[in-house]
Amino acid sequence: MGANQYREIFRKNNIKTTKQREVVLDILMNATVPLTAEEIYVKQMEGESNISLSTIYRVLDVFVSKCLVQKSNISDNKAVFEVIGMGHKHHLICLICGKIIALDHCPMGEYEKALEEETQFEITSHKLAFFGYCPICKQKNERTPKT
Ligand SMILES: [Zn+2]
Ligand SMILES: [Zn+2]
Repeated sequence: MGANQYREIFRKNNIKTTKQREVVLDILMNATVPLTAEEIYVKQMEGESNISLSTIYRVLDVFVSKCLVQKSNISDNKAVFEVIGMGHKHHLICLICGKIIALDHCPMGEYEKALEEETQFEITSHKLAFFGYCPICKQKNERTPKT
């Protein structure tokens, strides 16, 4: 996606286009997993932008308030951001290091159909995340002697 598409997205969502907003949206659009503000900050530095972390937080606030981006708190002090409606992804989230791995496919399709039949409920979307310990954290934990 290029700048024109981003401008179109901003226009549709009543967001004024700025260079900073384009950069942050570009990073979120190209991310395969939800990102923290800090991760967006690091990525834009790599991309030769120079946006301050506080500006990134402000841009994200605007995106969230306009329902362009969804904020999810994955722990008390960690929130991640992803563009709403960019395909449908589920994630494995490590409770220790906060690593997020995207699943390639949705395991819920069949179940959703069965549930609709069972409940006569028209299901339009769902949220599903898996929490646990990634292989690295699991290994570290096993090495720590139990007291
Ligand atoms: Zn981990
Ligand atoms: Zn799904």
